[in-house]
Amino acid sequence: MTTITDRLALAQYRISQAAKNSLREPDEVKLLAVSKTKPNSQIIDAYKAGQRLFGENYVQEAEAKILSLSADYPDIEWHFIGPLQSNKTKIIASRCDWMHTVDRQKIALRLNEQRPDTLQPLNVCIQVNISQEASKSGVNAVDVLSLAQQIDALPNLTLRGLMAIPSAHVDSHTATEELAALQQLYQSLAAQYSSVDTLSVGMSNDLELAVAHGSTMVRIGSAIFGARD
Ligand SMILES: *Cc1c(COP(=O)(O)O)cnc(C)c1O
Repeated sequence: MTTITDRLALAQYRISQAAKNSLREPDEVKLLAVSKTKPNSQIIDAYKAGQRLFGENYVQEAEAKILSLSADYPDIEWHFIGPLQSNKTKIIASRCDWMHTVDRQKIALRLNEQRPDTLQPLNVCIQVNISQEASKSGVNAVDVLSLAQQIDALPNLTLRGLMAIPSAHVDSHTATEELAALQQLYQSLAAQYSSVDTLSVGMSNDLELAVAHGSTMVRIGSAIFGARD
């Protein structure tokens, strides 16, 4: 039977192979373990295997997990990677270390206002809609730089970079084009802001392609914790 420890090691191995194939250093790519829908016991298993970065998608679930685990595991870094309604920003501002899905100024302003003074600034990524599908969340590429400027002006937020979810079921040519455009946008943002060091892209099924296009943080769920119901 494969364990979480085995599957974490395999994910790290895939990352390091993908990095080497692109002439990158393996430690340029962080592994965010996406634990949504999975119980605390599996997060603890991954923690005991050395994992420290965890990602959650749903506000109430994230809050409950953070409240129950943070006393015993204070060095877990919690990342929120799901869609966020503006009436839930306070929970994320007060409980999380990172927020990957900022897609409008209103959310940024609320997170900034609600970030407790006792905590370091919240690390944020702008979610970019790289597939041009109307239904997808995230800002269009043309609007990224103005939102970046607005976020950069807020003292309780630190602009760290971009996050994207490539469209599913597209052919590899389209996926490659989307990721290449994302990488170019990321590089122009990083050239303007010294705080920008994170390109959050790549999941269980496409981490190799994402690492080949400059990903610095892959978000891996099912390959570590198994399929979700
Ligand atoms: C669920 C989820 C992941 C992880 O997906 P897997 O295919 O299970 O690796 C990554 N990013 C986001 C935004 C997600 O919602």
